[in-house]
Formats: sequence, structure tokens, C-alpha cells
Amino acid sequence: MATSTSAPLHTVDLIRKKRDGGTLDGREIGFLAAGAASGSIPLEQLAAWLMAAWLRGLSLEETRALTLAMRDSGEKFSPARLGRQAVDKHSTGGVGDKTSFLIAPFAAACGVAVPMISGRALGHTGGTLDKLESIPGYRTALTLQEFETVLLKCGASIVSQTPRLVPADRVLYALRDRTATVESPGLICASILSKKLAAGLDALVLDVKTGSGAFLRNLEDSEYLAALMVATAEAAGTRTVALLTDMSQPLGSTAGNWIELVEAVELLRGKRAAESEDLRELSLLLAGWMIHQGGQAATPEIGYARAEAALADGSALRHFFAMIEAQGGDISVFDDARGFHKPGATEVVAAWESGYVAEMDTTALGWAVQRTGAGREKAGEPVDPHAGIVFHTRRGARVEKGQPFVTVYATNAELLAEPVEIVKQAVLFSRIPPQPVDLVGRIFTRESAERYLRDAVR
Ligand code: URA
Repeated sequence: MATSTSAPLHTVDLIRKKRDGGTLDGREIGFLAAGAASGSIPLEQLAAWLMAAWLRGLSLEETRALTLAMRDSGEKFSPARLGRQAVDKHSTGGVGDKTSFLIAPFAAACGVAVPMISGRALGHTGGTLDKLESIPGYRTALTLQEFETVLLKCGASIVSQTPRLVPADRVLYALRDRTATVESPGLICASILSKKLAAGLDALVLDVKTGSGAFLRNLEDSEYLAALMVATAEAAGTRTVALLTDMSQPLGSTAGNWIELVEAVELLRGKRAAESEDLRELSLLLAGWMIHQGGQAATPEIGYARAEAALADGSALRHFFAMIEAQGGDISVFDDARGFHKPGATEVVAAWESGYVAEMDTTALGWAVQRTGAGREKAGEPVDPHAGIVFHTRRGARVEKGQPFVTVYATNAELLAEPVEIVKQAVLFSRIPPQPVDLVGRIFTRESAERYLRDAVR
């Protein structure tokens, strides 16, 4: 049924329209997003509409309308007074992904403002906020006024979503989690971008993961999501680029909370380790794009070189420590970062075979990390800052039976057995080296994203 622009809207009609394969217009989508945020639409109707949208898919126009309506459903941050271009990075999640601790200070040291609103660990992926909260005193729940003050002082701030920012997503995401409607490109795009765009960004760099630890494992699905997010954010006026990056093994050598911060700070202090090279490289690449998008480098390659210089001269580390202090964190714990690590129980797992590390089921490894006590299964559960896993070997490396393969840190001795068993099931060895996988695959800019979406047979 067509609706006139002033006719009252009824949720049941919008559910029926989507269920029958129709396309909702901006007013209808706006009605649903506003009803989700205010609570005026009952959850059962929202759930029914979400399932219809999951089954039928959302058109590009519906996705754009939903993104904007959700962005506008609550309070927003304005970076206007920062005096610099505001640029953020979003990653679609992974295991051991601690790039935010490197990228934010790299970009801030190069003249870009980084207002980063981050998330918590859920399921097999870690959360930036949980990692930062392992620093005594660090506050993630700042008001927007405090957020601005830290940004003016330090160039970067990493905080949690405020209760009034994008309330529509708070309701819809929790409902999607309970109704098996998470994995829908249009719904994912609107959920992620509404939160990023509510931070008033001038530009955004998206890190879309592919491979065994990615949210969407299939390469085509990851490409479609990347192109959709770039085109949608660009249509909303935010310069955006997406890099498809490898998650066929954990990023860097650590996955957990405090141990990830230690790895990042050691890198910021100039220490180079073979197991952390992918983390260093990806962080410089993403920061290079942010610095370029933020108008501080003519090309992403020049941005990369500027980020590398900020790493080498220590200015990135100074920006990171300044941000931690400005948010109440005690940086003296980094004087003896390894000494501060006090796990409840530790087990070094030796390689159980000789051969090349051929395959890692990174999602399973993420669950192993969660089972140590480092993550959470349900929103709101506490996490153990000292739990996690150190991976001593990379995919493709040759190992000999008996050499240390991983070290598991758990909350207590009873929590060691399960992650150890998961790790053993998640790794395959081979007699010949596996094919190497590129760290960065396809890159989508506005033009290539729009071309991809035109060609996509969906
Ligand atoms: N992360 C989000 O914030 N939303 C989604 O829908 C998926 C991942």
C-alpha cells in the first residue's frame, strides 16, 4: 500500500510491506528508528520488522535512510571547536586487534583529531574499552564535554558510547542479538555508521576483516559490506575508505586485555618483534589513510611515512600517555608493564606436532581467549584484565614438537583446561608451508565502492 506524505503511519503496515518485498521510503524508515529510540513501537513489532528486513534485504536507499535516522535518534558530538579535521577508524572486529592504541596516537601526533567511540568485548572478539580499563583509573565513560576537553588537549580520546548517543541502535542491536538478525549487510551498515557519524566525523577509515576470525567469513560478503559502508557514509558527507584486511590469524602476538596494551606500548616504544610485525604494518597503513583523509598528507603513502616518523621520534607514545592521563589513567604501570601483569593461573602449551602452522581457526581462538576470563558471553559480565593468550608463532612458521606454542593466562587454574583444548583443536599443521595471505586486500574508495555496488548482483 502506498502512503501519502502526511498519512499517519502504522508499524504493522511497514512490517507487512517489508515482508512482501516492498521498499520503505525515508519517512517510513524514520518512523521506525524514532519509535525504536523512544520506545513507542513495541519490541515484538520491531523484531518482526527486523526479521522481514533480514530476509528481504534493505535497498541502498533504505540503508542510507536507516543510517541517517539512527544517527539522528539521539545526541551528537560536534568536533567543530577542535580546529582540526576529525577522523576515526572502525574495525569490524577481530582477535588481538589492538590497532586503536597505535592509530589514535599516530594520527593525533600528525595533526588529526581522533574522537573514538569504542565498544566492549562480546563473544569471540575483544573490546577496546575493556583493554583500556585494565589501566588503573582509566575512565571510558566521559561526558561529551569531557570528551571535547581531552581531544583539545591530546588530539585523541577513546571513550564509550554515552547513554543518549544513537539510542535507536541500542534498542535494535540488542534485539538483533536475540532474534538472529545480526548478519544483514544493511542492518550492520546502519548500526555501525550511525554511531560513527554521530561523532560528527569529517572522514572515516574502515578496517573490514576477512578470513577465519572475521564477523563475515566469506570474502564476497566482506567486500559487499565494505562497499556498502563506504557508499553510505560518503552519501552522508563523510569521506570514507575501506580496507579489507586479513583475520586468518590473531593480529600481533597477544589477545586479552592488559597483555594487548603491553604489546602496543612496546611497539610505541620502538621495540620490534617478528610476531608483532603485522600489527605494526596494519596500524601504519590505517593511520596513513587517516592522516591523508584528515588533510595532513597528500597521499596515504605520505601519511604512512608521517605516522612512522611519529613512532620513531616518540611523539606517538607521548600522545598516547597524555590521553591516558587526561582520562584518569595511571601511566606509571607502564614503567614495569610486564611486572604489573598478575594472572591467576598460567600454562605454557608446547607444540603438540612438528610442521608448518597451516591453518588457524581464529574465531575458535577468540573463544579460547574469552574462556580464559578475558572476555564475556553476555553483555554486562565482568572481564579479567590479566587473562588472555600469547601466541608465540605465526601462521606459516615452522615449529618443532615441544617448543612453546602459546601461553594461556586464566583467572584461575580451573579455567585453563578449556582454552588449552580449544587452541589444540583450532590449529592445523602441515608438512609444506601454506600459501601466504596478504595483510591488506581490496581497498574501496567512493568511486570503486559505487562501481562495485552497481555491478553487484544482489
Ligand atoms: N557492530 C555493530 O556495532 N553493529 C553491528 O550490527 C555489527 C557489529
